[in-house]
Amino acid sequence: MKLHHPLMGCIADDFTGATDLANILVRGGMRTVLTIGVPSEALDAPLDADAVVVALKSRTAPVTQAIRDSLEALRWLQSRGCSQFFFKYCSTFDSTAVGNIGPVAEALQEALNTDFAIACPAFPATGRTVYQGHLFVHDRLLSQSGMESHPLTPMREPNLVQVLQSQSRAKVGLIAQSDVAQGAATVLERIATLRNQGVRLAIADAISDTDLLKLGEACANAPLVTGGSGVAQGLPANFRRMGQLRDIDAALMPRIGGPAVVLSGSASSATNGQVAAWLRSGRRAFRLDPLALACGEPVVAAVLDFTKAHEPTLVYATSSLDEVRRVQSQLGAARAGALIEGALGQIAAGLRTRGTRRFVVAGGETSGAVVQALGLKALRIGHQIDPGVPETQSLGDIEPLAVVLKSGNFGSEDFFDKALRHLDGAAA
Ligand code: ADP
Repeated sequence: MKLHHPLMGCIADDFTGATDLANILVRGGMRTVLTIGVPSEALDAPLDADAVVVALKSRTAPVTQAIRDSLEALRWLQSRGCSQFFFKYCSTFDSTAVGNIGPVAEALQEALNTDFAIACPAFPATGRTVYQGHLFVHDRLLSQSGMESHPLTPMREPNLVQVLQSQSRAKVGLIAQSDVAQGAATVLERIATLRNQGVRLAIADAISDTDLLKLGEACANAPLVTGGSGVAQGLPANFRRMGQLRDIDAALMPRIGGPAVVLSGSASSATNGQVAAWLRSGRRAFRLDPLALACGEPVVAAVLDFTKAHEPTLVYATSSLDEVRRVQSQLGAARAGALIEGALGQIAAGLRTRGTRRFVVAGGETSGAVVQALGLKALRIGHQIDPGVPETQSLGDIEPLAVVLKSGNFGSEDFFDKALRHLDGAAA
């Protein structure tokens, strides 16, 4: 089979955002690979994909580092043959007072030798709309949505034109919803006007998926698009119109058999419900005790002994908020987290050595720890199991693994069982 080089190269400022974007591109018909950081050398496995998403950790990094990492990602994506680039950030425009959205967007523009890009975080399906440049989270302005007291990226100004201007060297403008609603041709006229006025970045309004699709169409020839995952919904159609996408199920992957495990380090309420549902059904489970870990008890070895190859085990630290607070007051939040994440990582690596090939992981930070412990470099994105949570397979390994990474509040109550059944059934 002839391998195609990727068409679209994406740079995401965090891991869950990268997964979300990759999931959307697959649903739009683009076969998509996600890399964890910038691959240090060419991936061994051939990248037979229409889109590649590089997941960085640049959202709250110092500006110079965010720019450096993003440019490194860009160069790697360019070397893979991508022709259009997407800079993905959060749909609530999460950024610090100095950046990193504006500085990274400008650095990418300079490297791509392009003088204009839209900035559209809108994602109406998740309640994020932008009107007259103002970002709403459901019925509230961003600055009254709770985001104003975010610990790392407090958003106190809802007018994104001002927010982006304060982070950017060049002039920032607005493409208003009244223009977006008229369609791609009007958007392109507006862009031409803005460029003549010296505007280099423009917040694009969108209050519906229809708006996003029109914006996507207007970006068909844009070297760089910036925004949340929402606006990426409109991009696959451009490649399809140009006959560059094959008419196949972009999520199709071969089935990976072998022992499976569920590892849960998330303390969110959804995950608590999922763990409770698993325990209620009487399935095999091992509770990780953070205090036992802190005392140096051989917990990891006990889990490896307990885990049976033929029956999936749930290994969980998940517990009620009261219990988490109690543990944190004894160990400190950072130490408790590090102990649990470290143990789950060691358990994942140990199980893999013993033959486990399928991993379902709950928790954003926990997922990061497990991905690192397993040494995963890249994931091919498959079908969605629950909204925002796709099945994935590792790339570049001698023997690939099936991996499902679920952050905190995602997934229905029977998610663990559903994910395992899904992996059983993934068609060849
Ligand atoms: P989520 O996506 O739900 O936020 P994360 O994995 O990102 O999940 O974060 C949960 C954090 O809470 C992790 O650092 C994890 O180690 C920690 N944690 C989980 N269970 C406990 C517990 N019982 N006591 C203390 N900390 C815990």
